[in-house]
Amino acid sequence: KSDLTYSITVVGASGDLAKKKIFPAIFALFYEDCLPKNFTVFGYARTKMTDEELRTMISKTLTCRIDKRENCEDKMNQFLKRCFYHSGQYNSEENFRELDIKLKEKEAGKLANRLFYLSVPPNIFVDVVRCASIRASSTSGWTRVIVEKPFGRDSESSGELTRCLKQYLNEDQIFRIDHYLGKELVENLSVLRFSNLVFEPLWCRNYIRNVQLIFSEDFGTEGRGGYFDHYGIIRDIMQNHLLQILALFAMETPVSLDAEDIRNEKVKVLRSMRPLQLEDVIVGQYKGHSKGAKSLPGYTDDPTVSKDSLTPTFAAAALFINNARWDGVPFLMKAGKALHTKRAEIRVQFRHVPGNLYKRNFGTDLDKATNELVLRVQPDEAIYLKINNKVPGLGMRLDRSDLNLLFKARYPREIPDAYERLLLDAIEGERRLFIRSDELDAAWALFTPLLKELEEKKIVPELYPYGSRGPVGAHYLAAKHNVRWGDVGSEDS
Ligand code: NAP
Repeated sequence: KSDLTYSITVVGASGDLAKKKIFPAIFALFYEDCLPKNFTVFGYARTKMTDEELRTMISKTLTCRIDKRENCEDKMNQFLKRCFYHSGQYNSEENFRELDIKLKEKEAGKLANRLFYLSVPPNIFVDVVRCASIRASSTSGWTRVIVEKPFGRDSESSGELTRCLKQYLNEDQIFRIDHYLGKELVENLSVLRFSNLVFEPLWCRNYIRNVQLIFSEDFGTEGRGGYFDHYGIIRDIMQNHLLQILALFAMETPVSLDAEDIRNEKVKVLRSMRPLQLEDVIVGQYKGHSKGAKSLPGYTDDPTVSKDSLTPTFAAAALFINNARWDGVPFLMKAGKALHTKRAEIRVQFRHVPGNLYKRNFGTDLDKATNELVLRVQPDEAIYLKINNKVPGLGMRLDRSDLNLLFKARYPREIPDAYERLLLDAIEGERRLFIRSDELDAAWALFTPLLKELEEKKIVPELYPYGSRGPVGAHYLAAKHNVRWGDVGSEDS
């Protein structure tokens, strides 16, 4: 509408995330004509910069989609003209009042909606929210705040953060971002299940043997271990990204696709989970390793990490949902840094076909008969289903084959980055992919006792070489639950 203006203020604009993800995502939305007609973008941080310097900084990371290169430069210039900068302290009401004056100038008396993106370290969240809400809230439209993880490091600190934020904001104004929920394949999970008759009837303990949620990175902390060392892989990946995917995967059919209906179902899953036991978890840490002439550093070789750090860079866990649909089905999570591959996947292993017909008649190895559905979240998004198939020809030989939907072959268009989807949702007030505070509480309630036990008992992580498949303990853990990890990293699609 022409009488309405929007502003997006990126707080922490000088930082890594802002440069790498947030400004490029706002530009991509502009390029795709998804942003409202009247909008401005403000960067806010302590670093001294002029508007022009901000523009130069962000212009280095803006890109146009491969399939849409025409007018790219024009569009970038139009976008950069709408970007401004204000330097200020994060705890200064006065500096936010100055920002408010600049925002009002751009809004030119129109009704104004304001979105603040908090891309700063978590100890600064509350200061920013206090100053922004008191001095720079919109007086004529909505004010919303996107908060980046981490949302605390246990139940207590997360509860305290929520309590502090709610002194200044309503739950409706808080958009806790988990960028995994903005990923194409994670969005597609519910579509696959709820709009295809062939999957939903199988989505339960009667047919599914186990579910695996796997995240692996093929690099370590590379000199930026300071933040990570305080959190570790369980807090960094499992308690949020993997657990969110688990909840989406396992939830009952929501009443509708409205945010509250979906989040109600997710929170029920989280609250039905069996408390995590130490014996159902293994932790690891990568160690230095030489590969030919190349020497790969161990975690504690990182100068920002203490030499005696016990922080896990790898963890595997078996989780269970105590409800009628999932009773007894292991949900195995595995997350690690400095592994042999970079990948995020959801793998669903189905039960064996009863009756053993082919083995009885032809001696075919029926271990192969387990169907497996794989959703590869990244890289190279794909959905494939492993099936048993007859090898063409005389005789009866079974082979394992794939029904394969490789996204880049089927949809050559580039897939939008998760941050684009989430930013657009926040502007449109769509909360489905953001974490509600009761979901967050339930997620921390599940992991906090385990994290405390690991720390109190000073559990020593099992070392694994940089670039390997991780500690062998992960295989024993899976075997204990009668599970074999899916073949992550092999060319199995
Ligand atoms: P960052 O570069 O460390 O910090 C962003 C900005 O905050 C910095 O440019 C700096 O700006 C200010 N800042 C940094 N340390 C500060 C301190 N101790 N006191 C006051 N201000 C400080 O962080 P980031 O990587 O951009 O990430 C921003 C947020 O997103 C963090 O909460 C992070 O946990 C989260 N996150 C990051 C990623 C990622 O890929 N980087 C992914 C997921 C979540 P000035 O000095 O100019 O004020």
